[in-house]
Amino acid sequence: MSDLSAIAAISTPLGTGGVGIIRISGKSATEIADRIFVSVNGKKLNASKGYRAYFGKIYDGDSPVDEVVCLVFRAPHSYTGEDTVEINCHGGVFLMKKILRLVLENGAQAAAPGEFTKRAFLNGKLDLSEAESVMTLISAQGEQGANAAFNQLEGTLSRKIDKINSSLLSLAAHIAAWVDYPDDEIEELGENELYNTINNANLELSALLNNFDSGMAITNGVEAAIVGKPNVGKSTLMNLLTGYDRSIVTEIEGTTRDVVEETVNLNGCILRISDTAGMRETGDIVEKLGVERSRKKLERASIVFAVFDLSKPLSDEDRELINECKGKNVIPIINKTDLKPCLDVDYIKNTLNTPLFISAKNGDGYDELCDRVANLMGTKNFDTSSAMLVNERQRACCQKAVNALNDALEALNIGLTPDAIGVCVDDAIAALLELTGQKASEAVVDEVFRQFCVGK
Ligand code: GDP
Repeated sequence: MSDLSAIAAISTPLGTGGVGIIRISGKSATEIADRIFVSVNGKKLNASKGYRAYFGKIYDGDSPVDEVVCLVFRAPHSYTGEDTVEINCHGGVFLMKKILRLVLENGAQAAAPGEFTKRAFLNGKLDLSEAESVMTLISAQGEQGANAAFNQLEGTLSRKIDKINSSLLSLAAHIAAWVDYPDDEIEELGENELYNTINNANLELSALLNNFDSGMAITNGVEAAIVGKPNVGKSTLMNLLTGYDRSIVTEIEGTTRDVVEETVNLNGCILRISDTAGMRETGDIVEKLGVERSRKKLERASIVFAVFDLSKPLSDEDRELINECKGKNVIPIINKTDLKPCLDVDYIKNTLNTPLFISAKNGDGYDELCDRVANLMGTKNFDTSSAMLVNERQRACCQKAVNALNDALEALNIGLTPDAIGVCVDDAIAALLELTGQKASEAVVDEVFRQFCVGK
């Protein structure tokens, strides 16, 4: 158990609300709270057991500041694993700041971003991947995402990684013993057994990697770009998806001169959509910059809506767009189905993908579009109870482990000695230990918690 000095922060949002919470965590939490809090029954928090609530007043010297309820948690049965007091005051910004200031003046230190959760991690209350799910849970924008993040917080990913790791660890131990003590009659592992253990671990981790984009789409959201030449109806589509007039719609070409961004939830699939400036050659310097940004958005997007106008023949600009979209996760959208068709739809179908027909103006095809997005992003039947990687750091660790296991399989395949295979398996184990934080460097741990908000 860590014995660090007490930290404090406002744990609720800095705005007006029914209740505001100032959290104090650390060995002297109750002592510090006692210096500014007087309970109506005269009891001291420092003498209190855990899981108790006390009604009373906060004082600044002799002056009462607010009526509050103090909750006492005793180590290790608290979020951080340390003694903790949560002061529930009235939810005013000035009031919360004033009580925090009193707490700091009476011995606590201001908590850094994520420091409460970092202490929970250091005290073994959760591992690194679980701590990261706390952040995913807080920022989840939909039901599916919140469910999935909650399951990771409950340890679904950690248990899976631990299980894979323990099978690799016993394999590595066996290889090491066999290499180091050749005279000790340690049973040689059969090639099949070696192969099966490594291959099974590889398959399970690869499945996690394959699910990564879908998981991100239901939790944090993924980048989506609406692209197309001017006037095909990109802004109208953006407005249809956001449900309000976010982008300016006019008949004048080149009206959207920069990228307009918005987050939308399409049946559980969270998209950070950019309505881009129409892609076309232009002498207008402002529009040129917009087109450049649109290209960048297109490059980065996990899903692309390439919009075409059904009422116009296919132009060189359309063909150029098709070329830029090749190889991307793209849904070709043929807009303006309410007008007389004039477009070579087959060309789009053959060069890109099966198109989807909509009228962005009157909303026809909206449900089909949501369905297509969910199918393409794999969010439709996403099993939120299964293990998933919740951020890029976890993905990178998992990828490192898969690469090492592929090397191990290759070493096995070409008949290298067991110690060469053992080195690869050790690399995979190290990557997995980094994922759960059991062997993450201090710098990695600090970086993870820096991304949290203060008070969490
Ligand atoms: P953008 O330049 O690609 O963003 O295109 P806008 O969204 O600004 O639309 C250009 C013009 O096409 C506007 O006059 C829209 O009202 C019109 N428009 C957009 N979608 C439709 C549609 O589904 N049907 C019809 N008839 N007109 C549309």
